[in-house]
Amino acid sequence: MISREVQLVRRPAGTVDESLFRVVEVDVPAPQDGELLVRSVALSADPSMIPRLSVDTYAPAFVLGEAIESRAVGQVVESRAEGLAAGDWVVHGGGWRELAVVDAATARQIHPSADIGPEASLHALGASGLTAAVGIDVVAQVQPGDVVWVSAAAGSVGLVAAQLAQARGARVIGSAGGREKTAYLSEEVGLDAVLDHREGGIADQLAAAAPEGLDVYFDNVGGDHLTAALDQLKVGGRIAACGMISGYGRPQTGPANIANVIIRRIRLEGFLVTDHLDRAPAVEAELRELMTGGRLRVPVTAFDGIEQAPAALLSLLRGGNLGKTIVRPVQRSTA
Ligand code: NDP
Repeated sequence: MISREVQLVRRPAGTVDESLFRVVEVDVPAPQDGELLVRSVALSADPSMIPRLSVDTYAPAFVLGEAIESRAVGQVVESRAEGLAAGDWVVHGGGWRELAVVDAATARQIHPSADIGPEASLHALGASGLTAAVGIDVVAQVQPGDVVWVSAAAGSVGLVAAQLAQARGARVIGSAGGREKTAYLSEEVGLDAVLDHREGGIADQLAAAAPEGLDVYFDNVGGDHLTAALDQLKVGGRIAACGMISGYGRPQTGPANIANVIIRRIRLEGFLVTDHLDRAPAVEAELRELMTGGRLRVPVTAFDGIEQAPAALLSLLRGGNLGKTIVRPVQRSTA
């Protein structure tokens, strides 16, 4: 069988652009014992891919000339593993490929329904949802009445974090870039206040939205956003340091007011979702219930065709996408 995949051909020297990638046709090997051949219907594009174009992070740098690693969701075409059969749906780590041969031990069976489709396992019912829940409940320990700011709140992690904070009884401020996203956060999600970082200084907007101060900052951005939070947090405030996308593929600016951590006895704690996988079943059950009840919504920005994967990633970096960024390989005959 022939499949297409997106490979990294060189590392960025300065800007990240589409010339770093190429789409190639490859022969797909037959699955061996313990393996699955999966046809993916949705591939994930994630901010953490940007640093991995250049360097090792908490995961190794991408290998030149190989398919970009990512989570994906698809249907089993052929199974050489017990417990999974052709037609079953799985989340897997097969990367930016149309067809992938994966170790069944690393794949997770899912059961999409008419109400909640398979792509949810790449956002609210997958890593984004677990990341948000760990940041809100384990790290920040959000309580009823807390004033919580979530940055990149119209993104995949941020939307779940903001809606979970609402569910915990917090007053929730969200920030995003541009009118479409801020309108979604105000009108569809119903956040208490919404900031637009493309409309001037985030610090002044935050001070106006939280004159009484912040209890919690859920940081997806770093840089000027983290600086603004450090000036607005109360004594005893908490920062869940989830991501710092403002410095991915570009220089990271550090907060000059970091001493506020001491002055205000702020707890700033970084975390990685991969350290909390034991929580996944309970978190997924709660988020599924919230989704079913209409109290958790994560829209998808989809790019059709595997050749669009680099554009999807670059658009995410530039703030062009609402909700989870997904690439849908166009289905075609591979005989
Ligand atoms: P998103 O869907 O939120 O996409 C990223 C968003 O970041 C963009 O849409 C853009 O939205 C915003 N952004 C980009 N650059 C800037 C900037 N300079 N200033 C302000 N906002 C910016 O991605 P995810 O939900 O997948 O990830 C969100 C964060 O969570 C990332 O930092 C990621 O690294 C982190 N993460 C951490 C994990 C962990 O285990 N700790 C696991 C998974 C993700 P807009 O311009 O509209 O604000």
